[in-house]
Amino acid sequence: MIVAGDQQLLKQINRMALVRQLCSEPGLSRAALAEAVGLTKSTVSLLVRELLDEGWLTESELRVTGALGRRATPLQLDGDRLALLGADMGIGMARIVATNLLGEVLAEQELPYLDPADTAGCIALVAQGLGELATGPALAGRTVRGIGVGLHGVVDDATGVLHYAPHLGWRNVDVASQLRSQFAGSALAELPLFIQNEANVAALAELEFSGQIGADPLIYLSIGHGVGAGIIVNGRLLTGLYGFAGEVGHTILQQGGPACSCGRRGCADALIGLQALMDEVYGRPQPSTPEQLEQLFTEAEAGEPRAARAVEAAGRNLGVLLNNLWVAFDPMCIVIGGAALRLGERFIGPGRGVLHDCASATLLPAPTIRTPHFGDNAIAIGGAAMARHYLMRPFVGQDTARRSHDKLGGEVPSALAAGFWAWS
Ligand SMILES: [Zn+2]
Repeated sequence: MIVAGDQQLLKQINRMALVRQLCSEPGLSRAALAEAVGLTKSTVSLLVRELLDEGWLTESELRVTGALGRRATPLQLDGDRLALLGADMGIGMARIVATNLLGEVLAEQELPYLDPADTAGCIALVAQGLGELATGPALAGRTVRGIGVGLHGVVDDATGVLHYAPHLGWRNVDVASQLRSQFAGSALAELPLFIQNEANVAALAELEFSGQIGADPLIYLSIGHGVGAGIIVNGRLLTGLYGFAGEVGHTILQQGGPACSCGRRGCADALIGLQALMDEVYGRPQPSTPEQLEQLFTEAEAGEPRAARAVEAAGRNLGVLLNNLWVAFDPMCIVIGGAALRLGERFIGPGRGVLHDCASATLLPAPTIRTPHFGDNAIAIGGAAMARHYLMRPFVGQDTARRSHDKLGGEVPSALAAGFWAWS
């Protein structure tokens, strides 16, 4: 039996099917749109009218088609009336952006944390910054549709809880609830809010905002102090049973290799991550400071022998990881992002070389390897991309809600999450 709620959801699914179709094929007429998505022309006309009124779509009268000169009005996403907010809650500071529906940045801001250990203070700072962006002059006349936040740790996207952020030292922080209570009474209070791990969010930026020919399957490999990945398959983020998919930093590349913080040996984290590189070059135990990281970048660039050797070895291990990701997911493209990009070709070159050798040996074409499209704001823009992604896929939200109950019938096992990922 169909109830009213289902009909509303069905309508929203149909509306967003039209919007998604126009993302990949801008300029379609109503008739072409109806044919592409399999809805009747009258339904499409009705839904398009709503979407035009609400600011999702725009039309122009410029194109004339057909033998008899009938006019078919091209439709496309409207970049001028709606806005999305994104935040990157980074290690020493947050970055926030507002974009239009096409991912063009309308406003951006850096928000240094007063005290990174003060979780509530950092979250309040971001909430306040987002509120100011939403009501600021750059968004005048626009309606904000959603908010996405990228976090540098293990996140359960179904609950918005950050289980552990190793480089912030935050554990079991209910980021979604804290943001919601900060938004209470403001223009942001009722907006959809999405929370995800930073690599996943950056992957969504590449999927949503890279133009109509976005690569899929796509892997965004984030290499900073540690290693993680966001994996897009069939237009969806692969999140796994509990939202922990893509933690490729703990795939083992070298049996019996160096000890990893997780307890295993030879993980990608322990062979490729910047923390492992600093440990290798400067000896353990070393505090992880921005100054030491700068020293590593400087010495690697200058070709200082110890740093250069370590970076090249890490690059070759990167190649092994790239091969393994290629074999596991057969991606069209692997995007390498994160702070380790500053190591440049001394790091990426050997990785590409190993991947090339694997491709030659198997006579198969390797996936494209490239850098991200969005620079320093990749994660904040990814937050906005995530909001667009889920707003345009209302059925995916249903999935996520269902996943909050595990197969044994209970709540998502936060104890399991906390315990399993305590080492992350
Ligand atoms: Zn590990």
